[in-house]
Amino acid sequence: MRQHGKLEYGGHAVPQRTCVGCRVRTAKSELLRLVRVEDQVVPDLRGRLSGRGASLHPSLSCLELAERRRAFPRAFRVRGPLDVSPVRAHLEGEPRNVM
Ligand SMILES: [Zn+2]
Repeated sequence: MRQHGKLEYGGHAVPQRTCVGCRVRTAKSELLRLVRVEDQVVPDLRGRLSGRGASLHPSLSCLELAERRRAFPRAFRVRGPLDVSPVRAHLEGEPRNVM
C-alpha cells in the first residue's frame, strides 16, 4: 500500500479517512466505520448508521492503539469511557484478521 500521495482508483481520487488507532490516512474503503450508540462503539457494517463516525483499520492492534490513546471519546466528543467490546467481538470474529 502506498503511504504517500493520493490513493487513486481508475484515475479518481477516493475519499480518505484517518485511522483513529495508528493515525495512518488511507482510502475510506480500507477502514471500518464505527459509530457510537449510547456508551458503546459499534461497527457500522452496512454504512447505514447515522451520526458522527470514526474510522479504524479492521485490526485488533489498531483498536488497542485507539483505546490506549483514548481516541474514541475524542472522536465521538464524549467525556466518559466508551465500551468497545462490540468492535473487538467483530474483529475477533473475522478470520482474515488472524495474523
Ligand atoms: Zn490503523
